[in-house]
Amino acid sequence: MFIHACLGKNEKGHMTIGGVDTVSLAEQYGTPLYAMDEATIRENCRIYKEALRDAYGEDSLPLYASKAFSCKQIYRIAAEEGIGIDLVSPGEMYTALKAGFPMEKAFFHGNNKTDADLRMSIESGVGYIVVDNTDELTALERIASEMGKVQKILLRITPGIDPHTHQKIITGNVDSKFGNAIVTGQAMAIVKAALACENLTLEGLHCHIGSQIFDCDPFDDAASIMIGFIADIKKETGKEMHFLNLGGGFGVRYVEEHEPIDYAKNIRAIASHIKALCEEKGVHLPAVLMEPGRSIVAASGITLYTVGSVKEIVGFKKYVSIDGGMPDNPRYALYQSPYSVYTANRLNEKAEYTCTIAGRCCESGDLIAEDVTIAKPVRGDLLAVTTTGAYNYSMASNYNRIPRPPVVMIQDGDSYVAVARESYEDLIRNDR
Ligand SMILES: *Cc1c(COP(=O)(O)O)cnc(C)c1O
Repeated sequence: MFIHACLGKNEKGHMTIGGVDTVSLAEQYGTPLYAMDEATIRENCRIYKEALRDAYGEDSLPLYASKAFSCKQIYRIAAEEGIGIDLVSPGEMYTALKAGFPMEKAFFHGNNKTDADLRMSIESGVGYIVVDNTDELTALERIASEMGKVQKILLRITPGIDPHTHQKIITGNVDSKFGNAIVTGQAMAIVKAALACENLTLEGLHCHIGSQIFDCDPFDDAASIMIGFIADIKKETGKEMHFLNLGGGFGVRYVEEHEPIDYAKNIRAIASHIKALCEEKGVHLPAVLMEPGRSIVAASGITLYTVGSVKEIVGFKKYVSIDGGMPDNPRYALYQSPYSVYTANRLNEKAEYTCTIAGRCCESGDLIAEDVTIAKPVRGDLLAVTTTGAYNYSMASNYNRIPRPPVVMIQDGDSYVAVARESYEDLIRNDR
């Protein structure tokens, strides 16, 4: 019935997550509510960690791309699982620091890190800064030298791959705002510039080709180009790269029609391709890093809403309105991302009511799904939207002055609050 193993149905016909009744979660914590299954998150961390280590050895590591879902608890889980993290802002860095994350396993990204950001990352002991461009390289070398520190870096390279995915989330193409293109010669130029920096040590290269990718081909293509470039670097400078970071991007199932993905199998397939390439090009096998975000947390999460008005525009559409919407999940409004929806307290009833799920904002575009078929709900019923663990809480806003929902983690048949519900007082905290 459900596309994720952590979801089920109990004897009352109620939906469960991690074995816990969603109706009782809604009673205990209120709605809207994000619920996440901790075991799913931990299992995904282990799948990546073991597959990468088996393929490339001890230095190889998944880095959880924390823009997918960032709060103190997720950094504690990442630390306990022994994986690294990818940070994209000083806010994420601050959160990881406050959670006690071992910062030597943190990689700091971004196409426009300010001088203050760079200083903060050196002060915080961030292991690796992924340098985006020459301007940033110069600034970082100056700041590291002023601070009397030597900083490890990777360089962000654009291999020029179109991963056949959604335009708005393609980042590996040449005209992207991220990184240095190989074809223009700028990538080789920044490698040489980095090698000449006294306060920076070049540990490897990074590329990220896009998101919601379902097969290995785009990763194989990117790896071919990157290993070719690593061979060129060896030829021109004599330097071999320790790390090759292939970025994130493996897809997840949001709806039945999406194919299931075996991440470990894909990692093994990409590894055999990379090993053959390294042999062919005469370079040593790099320690490969990957930066999964969505595929670590998305499947673990659901959002629970209380149904309000159910409205039929005779001859046109049916609207089911909920007590949340684009402030807690802007992805349908932004990208028309598909979601699976269930009337969580009526799983024993037939799903035959085709409707549009509307949020509560004063905005016609505030929809969560269109043309989904669910058991007919009435006011007061519980609606569940699944696969909301990634890019929901992290993209949430206070639009219409709606407080952000809490995040509740499910663990061993019990639940605990990872992020508390925002109060109205929180909303006016910074107002003067
Ligand atoms: C967004 C992003 C990721 C994570 O992508 P997912 O699709 O969530 O796996 C990893 N690395 C970088 C550099 C990113 O920008």
